[in-house]
Amino acid sequence: METILIQMEENGPDRDGIARAGEIIRRGGLVAFPTETVYGLGGDALNPASSRKIYAAKGRPSDNPLIVHICRWRDIYRIAQPVPEAAKKLADAFWPGPLTMILHKTALVPKETTGGLDTVAVRYPMDGTALALIDAAGGFVAAPSANASGRPSPTLARYVREDLDGRIDMILDGGEVGIGLESTIVDLTEEKPMILRPGYVTKEMLESVLGPVETDRTILDADCKLPPRAPGMRYRHYAPKGELTILEGEPEAVAETVCARSRRAKERGEKVGIIAADELLSRYRADSRADSVKSVGSRTDEEAVGRSLYRILREFDDEGITVIFSESFPEGGFGQAIMNRLLKAAGHRIEKAEGEGK
Ligand code: AMP
Ligand code: MG
Repeated sequence: METILIQMEENGPDRDGIARAGEIIRRGGLVAFPTETVYGLGGDALNPASSRKIYAAKGRPSDNPLIVHICRWRDIYRIAQPVPEAAKKLADAFWPGPLTMILHKTALVPKETTGGLDTVAVRYPMDGTALALIDAAGGFVAAPSANASGRPSPTLARYVREDLDGRIDMILDGGEVGIGLESTIVDLTEEKPMILRPGYVTKEMLESVLGPVETDRTILDADCKLPPRAPGMRYRHYAPKGELTILEGEPEAVAETVCARSRRAKERGEKVGIIAADELLSRYRADSRADSVKSVGSRTDEEAVGRSLYRILREFDDEGITVIFSESFPEGGFGQAIMNRLLKAAGHRIEKAEGEGK
């Protein structure tokens, strides 16, 4: 299959392109499109065959449910029942936006879309192209991140093409996404709201609207033996090809350890990449002998870190990096989402930097 690439105009969605894309989805095809979080791979959420195609194109396990994207509030009543008061409050505060809610599904939503579950994940995104496409496609677009399963979610159309060219009908190129990490997922089907995946909408933001919110224990505790409540969090997502280790501790100790480890890896013949914040960048460039040192921005600028993380992991893949060292980042607010993704990418390999690395 030839994958058509359509460039969105800078001053808003291209109407013809959107109309064609919507038609493709209504006929059961797949279109990748930008959202404010990451690029999504969209199909008709109400068509079981479309959902099966999404799983096949991504190589995604079919028990990993898809998020259904809507483009107007009232449509939620067609796919979710009941719609609790908490959902209304959250929608008032954060929709359209980077928040996904888990609710009980109606019969309209096929089990293929929900990975066999009786619940459905719903999001109302705010990106203009995404909203226009969902509308043109009939109002209910199932869209997981538009990467091949196991690779970092795409923040640019180029990465969608790298993973899915020839496997999907169309890619809408809307440039670089704004947030760079997937939406926050909150489960509203139990008595207490629970965060299943941290994202740009933080626990504090949710609590300011709902009161106390819990967090799935498997997010907070890597050794927790319980299965995560979001099936997708089970898989080792976001995995770069190189072996990634995170070093935490005082900045000076981290810099020393990373440089020493990097030099030793070079002696073993590895190709080394370092993920650094601006603050220590020149130090790594001078002392580490690493092949590639990349900055996520200032460590105090969470938004910059969130936006660059997946891009850097992909760039290291392209450069053939075999060993990666990363600083760790502050875990407050949006930082929790950043560290959650970084830890997953590292297969939870995190060590305390003691200075001169051993
Ligand atoms: P992605 O669209 O690639 O960001 O992945 C969607 C995420 O939402 C995965 O982690 C899924 O497991 C999760 N998810 C989707 N639907 C549900 C649901 N009904 N219950 C729990 N988690 C869900
Ligand atoms: Mg994904």
